[in-house]
Amino acid sequence: MLKLHNLSRVFQTDNVETTALNNINIEIEKGEFVAIMGPSGCGKSTLLNTIGMLDSPSGGQYFFDDEEISTYSEAQLSVIRKKNIGFIFQNFNLIDELTVEENIELALLYHNIPAAERKERVLNVMDKVGIAHRAKHMPSQLSGGQQQRVAVARAVVGDQAMILADEPTGNLDSANGQEVMEMLQALNDEGTTIVMVTHSPSHADYARRTINLFDGKVVTENVKAA
Ligand code: ADP
Ligand code: MG
Repeated sequence: MLKLHNLSRVFQTDNVETTALNNINIEIEKGEFVAIMGPSGCGKSTLLNTIGMLDSPSGGQYFFDDEEISTYSEAQLSVIRKKNIGFIFQNFNLIDELTVEENIELALLYHNIPAAERKERVLNVMDKVGIAHRAKHMPSQLSGGQQQRVAVARAVVGDQAMILADEPTGNLDSANGQEVMEMLQALNDEGTTIVMVTHSPSHADYARRTINLFDGKVVTENVKAA
């Protein structure tokens, strides 16, 4: 599904250069569930944002579905991103002024789908994550666990092939965290590719492969036996 070849990302702020990603080589197949781990500041979010085309590499190549996209314009990337990738963040990142169903439907506005079908898809996905009874609520009226369900629904409502999750359970208690992990596992069982940053070894255990980063480099990869 994607391949990073000698990929690097250097941030320039004032006179300080930070190498967030240093010569990364990673391949991820369709349908994989990959965890990314490593200490704070080692480049996990930068890696996920690069995979998600929210951040552009300073060097190296990025191939998505065999196309080299490193040289694409923001407009081209945005088309690929919206069609293929759903994001889940630690802080849920819902829009406070929109209801649950409006937050989810927003992810469909870029797809060319008639309004009636949009409504139906939103209903189906709300059912799937167990949030349908909160459809008309505002995010501030929901618990953290419920907000993250909305974010999961938003990430998959457009049939995105890949979900990128940056510490999706970081702000949840253990029961809600486990429920989110079970949702991700169910999506992966249906074929969705998942790449997840986590600090929790037990949550990384849902993934078949764990990539460990340190100082912007891949230091080890562990693959679980089938
Ligand atoms: P992690 O998610 O593993 O905690 P990050 O990817 O957020 O790490 O950050 C990796 C390094 O890059 C850190 O040193 C961080 O300070 C730096 N960094 C991240 N984003 C920026 C930015 N927008 N501008 C400058 N430095 C950044
Ligand atoms: Mg981070």
